[in-house]
Amino acid sequence: MTNITLLDRVQYRSDVVEEKLANVIINKETGCHEYQGYIHPGGYGRFLIYHPDAEVKKKKFYTHRISYAFFKGVNPGKLFVCHKCDNRKCINPDLFLGTHKENMNDMAKKGRVPSRKLNEEKVRTIRKLFTEGEKKSIIAEKYSVAVSTITKIIDFKTWKHVA
Ligand SMILES: [Zn+2]
Repeated sequence: MTNITLLDRVQYRSDVVEEKLANVIINKETGCHEYQGYIHPGGYGRFLIYHPDAEVKKKKFYTHRISYAFFKGVNPGKLFVCHKCDNRKCINPDLFLGTHKENMNDMAKKGRVPSRKLNEEKVRTIRKLFTEGEKKSIIAEKYSVAVSTITKIIDFKTWKHVA
């Protein structure tokens, strides 16, 4: 049995990951590998996978980020995994990493200005809490912001420059 290190630097069974990533339909027109599993409200595919440590429950991952890690053999780490096709469901291995600057430019272009109540440190904590399984409503309450604000942060629609 072979393992693969995913974004949390934990080793998972690669056959399980491979099976998840195989759950795509290839769009013949666009060449997009559209994920057929759960699609997060932010538009990205997501899957759950059992953590090897029984104390930890399942971990949630974005399929496009896992696709990048899996097919390129490179952990995207703090970088953003970007779509050439702009199709969020797409996990075509032809994804690329975007830099801080590119994402800042992208954010400016799209006019997505971060909330004044938050700062980079808070944003990092919000994403961490969510990854650890905290409910968005609880996080929103904690930071006195709307749930939609939390969703945008988690989906990297806002605060894209914060890794
Ligand atoms: Zn695509």
